[in-house]
Amino acid sequence: MKQLVLASSNPGKLREFETLLAPLGIEVVPQSRLGVPDADEPHPTFVENALAKARNASGHARLPALADDSGICVAALGGEPGVHSARFAGDPRSDERNNARLVELLSGEADRSAHYYCVVVLVRHAADPEPLIAEGRWHGEVADTPRGGGGFGYDPYFHVPELGLRAAELDPQTKNAISHRGKALRRLLALLREEE
Ligand code: IMP
Repeated sequence: MKQLVLASSNPGKLREFETLLAPLGIEVVPQSRLGVPDADEPHPTFVENALAKARNASGHARLPALADDSGICVAALGGEPGVHSARFAGDPRSDERNNARLVELLSGEADRSAHYYCVVVLVRHAADPEPLIAEGRWHGEVADTPRGGGGFGYDPYFHVPELGLRAAELDPQTKNAISHRGKALRRLLALLREEE
């Protein structure tokens, strides 16, 4: 496999996937470059949404497709925003308003624990009956003040206790080495290698 379509238009995710897949000589083409329309993500689980995105991209682009669905799950909020992370503060999607809503809901809350979750799905064609699926989690805490200029989404508020740093303060290699997306993708690549 030399080329695959990435079923996401999120520039933050695209950068992370490109870095993670470059060593394998796989070119990642974002679906927007191929005119693929965004798929609906109506499902209650990450894996169902990722599959819907992968099948949509592969069907339109006629290429193998890689999709992820991810989000931040906050213990004190019963796992929310979870699958609703991208649009937590409504449309149009805005990281700034999402973060403001999260911090507001957690104000005065002692339990700040949260984890990022990511599932990645690879389909070889739109009707692939044996999609490859792998997941990853990254545990941390939601801080009430932002720090750092890297990453995207909730990263300025996602505190990594072992490092004493926010996710947005990590360089891309460090984030990829420990993040939910990095873990999920490395597991997916191991599944791919098992297939050879
Ligand atoms: P998706 O495109 O439906 O998977 O949206 C996932 C949303 O979860 C993103 O828009 C971010 O708000 C959040 N998210 C997922 N992964 C990360 C990450 O690595 N850093 C920060 N926010 C993330």
